[in-house]
Parts: sequence; C-alpha cells; structure tokens
Amino acid sequence: MTHSPAEEPKLCWLCGKNEATEPYALSKQTEMICATCLERRRARDALEDRLIYITNLEYDRRYDAALACLDEILEANRHRDHDLWLARSIAMLRSSILFNAGRYAEAEKACEAWAQLGFRNIHDRWMHAFEKAQTLNALGRPREALAVVEDGLGHQDPRYIEAAMLLLTPLVRLSKKLGQPVDPKWRGLAEAWARHHEIDMPVGDSLEKTILELQKIYRARKPEFANDEGAEDEADET
Ligand SMILES: [Zn+2]
Repeated sequence: MTHSPAEEPKLCWLCGKNEATEPYALSKQTEMICATCLERRRARDALEDRLIYITNLEYDRRYDAALACLDEILEANRHRDHDLWLARSIAMLRSSILFNAGRYAEAEKACEAWAQLGFRNIHDRWMHAFEKAQTLNALGRPREALAVVEDGLGHQDPRYIEAAMLLLTPLVRLSKKLGQPVDPKWRGLAEAWARHHEIDMPVGDSLEKTILELQKIYRARKPEFANDEGAEDEADET
C-alpha cells in the first residue's frame, strides 16, 4: 500500500528526527514539533519568559525575590528538564545573582552545585570558571581563583575560542594581584583568540600586556563598551 504525500508522517521542525505531532507557536509562525521537543521547549520558555522580570528584580536589589522566582520555575518544570538545560541555566543565574548581591559564601556554594550538574560545552565550563573565580577572589582567595581560571583554560574547544577572553582577562588580573607573571603556555590561546577576531597580536609586549591590549582593541570596536573605558582597570584594584 502506498501513502499519498499528505499521509507521510511529518518530521519535527526542531529535531528533524521524530514525528511532528504538536503545534508550537514561535514568534512569527506556528510549527509542528515532536512531543520530546515540546517538553524541552516548555522548560526553556518557563525561564526565558520571565528573564526580564528576574533581571529587573536583581536590578532593584530584590535578590531574594529573584532567587525565589528561579526556584519556583525549576520546581514547576523539573519533570520536563530531561537534558538539564533548565537546571544548569538556573544554577548559573543563581551563582551570578548571589555574587552581585555580595553574598559570596552562598555564591561559592551555588557554583559548586552548578558544577555538579556537569557542563554542556566549553563555553559553559568557562562561564562557570569565570563566576567561581570572581567569587573566590571576592572571598579573599585569589590563589584558588587563579587555579580555577587555569583549570578552565585547560579545557579547550576551537568552536568556542570566541569566548576565551572571559578567562584570559581574569588570568592577567589575578596573576598581577599575586605578583606573578602569566604562564607563557597561554600565549597560544591568546593568539588563537586574536586570529578569530582578526586582531593583530601586539608585538614585543609581555603576555600580560598583550592580553590586556587585545581586550582593549576588541572593546574599542564594540559600541556597548564605548562608555566604560577604564572600568576594568578600576575593578581590578579590589
Ligand atoms: Zn523534535
């Protein structure tokens, strides 16, 4: 027996693997997706739909309200969070909110809980190292912070090279704080980052100066950094 094209099962618009059985409204149109993808999307939407609200709570320094909102979203959607996207995203937000609230001991614990969930990719691992290092530094433990940064940088994946400055800058600042040079083994990573962003490596400077110079050149290109020139240098003296 042959099927007419109309009877062929349509594949999920998102994963392209399973049969599309559920309508899912995107910003401009509705697409048919599979039941698994629908669950995943619902878990994501639960957070994404309230992110602006949570950010505003944090901006207003209503940190406990922001954290309670995250807990509520996770509890209501945990059963859908098969790939842990929601749990990991919330763990990241929790760590960052606690840091911004100046609640560093709690932020450290939140970073540990985040690591327990495992990392999806190098970018997430680097985000975690960044957050944990700034927390440890704020707790007066710069040596541990530097170890976290170097451990993070030890995990590399060329697909995420774009984000390396996230850890290269704290690498320089923490080394400086501890009165030690940046380990020359990270030069290759700085070069790869510069190549990716089509920036020529400054010649003749120490690796510390080179990394800061690269960051400066990069930021000068970006309109969003136009008004905070020097902010990094001030932040360093904590
Ligand atoms: Zn699907």
